[in-house]
Amino acid sequence: MKIGFIGLGNMGAGMCANLVGAGHDVRAFDLNAEAVAAAVAAGASAASSLAEVADGAETVVTMLPAGKHVLSVYFGDGGIASHAAAGTLFIDCSTISVDEAREAAGKASDGGFLMVDAPVSGGTAAANAGSLTFMVGGPDAAFERASPVLDIMGANVVHAGGAGNGQVAKIANNMLLGISMIGTCEAFNLAEKLGLDAQTFFDISSTASGQCWSMTKYCPSPGPVPAAPSNNDYQPGFAVAMMLKDLRLAQQAAGGIDASTPLGAQAEAIYAKLDEDGFAGLDFSGVMRRVRGEI
Ligand code: NAD
Repeated sequence: MKIGFIGLGNMGAGMCANLVGAGHDVRAFDLNAEAVAAAVAAGASAASSLAEVADGAETVVTMLPAGKHVLSVYFGDGGIASHAAAGTLFIDCSTISVDEAREAAGKASDGGFLMVDAPVSGGTAAANAGSLTFMVGGPDAAFERASPVLDIMGANVVHAGGAGNGQVAKIANNMLLGISMIGTCEAFNLAEKLGLDAQTFFDISSTASGQCWSMTKYCPSPGPVPAAPSNNDYQPGFAVAMMLKDLRLAQQAAGGIDASTPLGAQAEAIYAKLDEDGFAGLDFSGVMRRVRGEI
């Protein structure tokens, strides 16, 4: 299949390489020439413009920083929509706001294209390994066409409903993750300060009612989960800046519909302060160091 791929950054590079590895004819584009050169080295062909990406493509995949980039790449002057054939499938894997995802879907539909929002869970390791989870929003017909492409780049592909629902799933999940990580840090810090060592508390709580992913798979206290970033000086992993982006998107969406999210707001404030204090690149579980008063 002829696939156009736009956005060859930390995530997109591996995703693009996996599509090439599955035998697809992938035309790759990025504003960064080095990123395009790396995609070409992995077997893609280089496109020098959005028009070239769209030419003959049956599917276009995007993995871009934010909603403004997505709207401009597809629907701006000279964007993909002004060059692609009717019926082309657009798969946007970027994390963007629910409103922007629905705006993009409406524009795609008006132009005679099929579109899904398909944000991912999993970082660069999962992008490289083809083991991402995709949360997909869009009509059934678009999901059915997108699934075989997403299956190459991911291990789990879930249809979350209509346009924008992939982004809804992503921000609701990551708001819960941010809250649960801070809660886990507070619980370990409390236990340790009261004389209970981290491993003993983990052994009890990880099989009791306090257990959650932040504890069992990503424990912010060093020791109990050897592969967790807490054992590697809180190197990411999933950086504070990325968590903050998702918490902001969640707060923005909640504000628009008057959904009560006081803990989500608090989590956003805590990660925003870490970001402001120069810890944007710390793994998000590094909030443990703040809870302990170390930073
Ligand atoms: P990145 O900044 O590494 O890559 C983005 C790429 O898009 C860059 O190479 C940039 O040059 C390119 N780009 C920007 N504007 C462009 C344009 N107009 N035309 C062509 N190329 C353009 O970002 P990333 O870490 O790969 O993240 C991409 C998306 O995935 C984001 O929406 C992010 O929130 C989401 N995400 C990232 C992670 C992660 O761990 N990095 C995890 C889950 C989701």
